[in-house]
Amino acid sequence: MKIIAMSALALFTSLSISAEMKQFPVDSLLYRPRVDVGFDQYRSASLKKSNKVALTFDDGPHITRTPKLLDILKKENVKATFFVLTRKINESTLPIIQRILDEGHILASHDHDHENNNNETEDEFQGELLKSISILEGLKEKFGSNQISSYYRFPYGAYGKNKLYHHFNVMKKVSDIIYGENCINFAFWDIDTSDWVPTITKEQIASNIMAHVVGGTAYRHVVKRTIFGNTKYKMKKYKIKYPFGGGVALLHDIHERSIEATEIFIKAAKRKGIEIVPLSEVKEYSYKDKSCQSIF
Ligand SMILES: [Zn+2]
Repeated sequence: MKIIAMSALALFTSLSISAEMKQFPVDSLLYRPRVDVGFDQYRSASLKKSNKVALTFDDGPHITRTPKLLDILKKENVKATFFVLTRKINESTLPIIQRILDEGHILASHDHDHENNNNETEDEFQGELLKSISILEGLKEKFGSNQISSYYRFPYGAYGKNKLYHHFNVMKKVSDIIYGENCINFAFWDIDTSDWVPTITKEQIASNIMAHVVGGTAYRHVVKRTIFGNTKYKMKKYKIKYPFGGGVALLHDIHERSIEATEIFIKAAKRKGIEIVPLSEVKEYSYKDKSCQSIF
């Protein structure tokens, strides 16, 4: 009996250690294309019933909306993560990148060009990932930031389904070139706000985050009709009775409604005692004792 109890404890300990680091591809594992897929297993278990939310913004930088969001975050003293498309970085968006870093937010990659990686060859994916992460490392150096944040979010959350290679194996290879160790931390999400749906309102987006933390009314999209490839959506109300109680929220700083929804959510979160934390403070996204400095 005692032996069983001890081995159960050993198992629990090893599981909890791997859970904390699970957003990194496992060093020793050769991932299998079309087998090692899905992202339910990468939910942020540490945020369950935590009353904590990490705000993440994809697809920017946007020339006017990202600065507007940065103003709100500064005013409310909230830190967020920006998953930028590195192809959008140019002379006119550089000051926005500098603000993201100077104001203490996390700068991360959402790929170079937002292609669906499942449709890319291994060489194409490897080249784009190397380019995107290298650009961000170069910018951190340019702006004097030593932030460790090589997070990478797959466009559309798409990975693992190309039959010839698995993206996690390539991530390890690219990471070894840039950092000399396994540092590229893949980032999915727990709360899909549906803020990309053109008909959703700012109030509905804010409710979607809140409902996943404390329960209540949420909104999901259903396809109304598709005419000549043009899809129309409508929002459907539903209730969340048993919320996860926290999570990493997915938003996009390219939509005005998302920026306004963020302000609504932050104010409501403060009233309800919900803590907004940077992604780096979420256990699953922690770098722990890794150094992860570019060796270029
Ligand atoms: Zn995206």
